[in-house]
Amino acid sequence: MANILAFDVGGTKIAGGIVDETGRILEQQVVPSGGSEGRQRVLEQLFALGDRLLQTYPGQVDAVGIGTAGEVDPKLGTITSATQSIPNWTGTALRDAAQHRWLVPCFVDNDGNAAALGEQLFGAGRGCEHFVYICLGTGVGGAVVDQGKLLRGKANYAAALGHMTIAVGGRMCSCGGQGCLEAYASGTALTHRAQEDAICSDSQQLFRMAAEGHAQASLLVAETAYYLGVGLANLVNLFDPEKIVVGGGLAAAGPVLLRPAEEVMNQRVLPGLVDTVEVVEAHLGANAGLVGAAALALLGLDVLPSHASECDCGISAGLSQG
Ligand SMILES: [Zn+2]
Repeated sequence: MANILAFDVGGTKIAGGIVDETGRILEQQVVPSGGSEGRQRVLEQLFALGDRLLQTYPGQVDAVGIGTAGEVDPKLGTITSATQSIPNWTGTALRDAAQHRWLVPCFVDNDGNAAALGEQLFGAGRGCEHFVYICLGTGVGGAVVDQGKLLRGKANYAAALGHMTIAVGGRMCSCGGQGCLEAYASGTALTHRAQEDAICSDSQQLFRMAAEGHAQASLLVAETAYYLGVGLANLVNLFDPEKIVVGGGLAAAGPVLLRPAEEVMNQRVLPGLVDTVEVVEAHLGANAGLVGAAALALLGLDVLPSHASECDCGISAGLSQG
């Protein structure tokens, strides 16, 4: 059985673990990434964490999988673009650095793509040839799986789902644009708005208050669901998926957010697409990044777990990294 040394690298923390080919996490540790101090610090933290995990784990690992913040060239394993959450992360030859350190094959991709692969192999996307993974977290990210493969575009920027415009002239977004989905349906946006309207201090509390019938909280949740629904309708019209898998912190709000968003989605899609798409919560939850990074490496190694490639109906899904 193949075992993977897997990492989820973000601006504030790095999760690392040993994950087996069934998606089971055997060891796991989280450390601060030191992202604000730049590339060198993040690499030091990554290497130290990996070395510790390998000392703790008695067996061998077959590969390293890394899902990271920023845009990635998956063929070269380099970071092609990153935000200020990790200054000078752009240009980092992450794959080569990890291979040099641990002397096994290494596979690197954007964290949204990795999480989508995790859901495809081990989670809510199992058996799906066509699905959209959308992560409503600090920001909004995701990936599109079409015919079993990740949609990448000409320079691996495809499926920046959080930055589709859903409100022309709307709220400012972290990308510098206006009216992006991320400015309405991320945890950060919702927390800002709850504070602005003096309702409460964070999004989790907002959902609790809405569930208890607080009028202003309910209104803000309804508005968020509306904008999310508009975004989902755009995704359905563009990609005709079987499912939309929703992950990230806000997905934990569950039906109170997702059912009204699904209603709005169905009001706005092409007639032939009404009620054809399931909106479901991601299965991997907080482990999506780590298990996704392992899925990336398992697909790279071409070690496909036979149980994971079969749909509930018994038809092979023909998984591929793309
Ligand atoms: Zn944006």
